[in-house]
Amino acid sequence: MAKALTQAQIEEIEVLLLTNKSKIEATLRNIDNEHASLSEMDLNDDADFAAASRDYSTDIHIKKQQLEELTQINYVLSKMAKGEYNGLCEMCDAEITMKRLRVKPHAKYCIDCRNYIDKKNS
Ligand SMILES: [Zn+2]
Repeated sequence: MAKALTQAQIEEIEVLLLTNKSKIEATLRNIDNEHASLSEMDLNDDADFAAASRDYSTDIHIKKQQLEELTQINYVLSKMAKGEYNGLCEMCDAEITMKRLRVKPHAKYCIDCRNYIDKKNS
């Protein structure tokens, strides 16, 4: 039987999740502000336009990733709020190590299952 996280460990992960969440929200706000000012800008020059649209597509990519992460963070936070969070892998119930959760507090799967899913999706 894999060992569920202790209350103290869950609280540690919750703090990490909330920190990451506010960082992501700040990043998303910055991106939106930049886009708002970009569309007010006069891009006369082709080079300006190319640079701006290159930035724009990078931003869109970042935004998509950040939104996905935010969804995962909110999911884990809602599980915590319902008292359903135990830090175990959702697929195989194995322990997700604290080392891994400190790097990626919204992780739902252990490394093995994560690798399996990544392989299947690629
Ligand atoms: Zn697993």
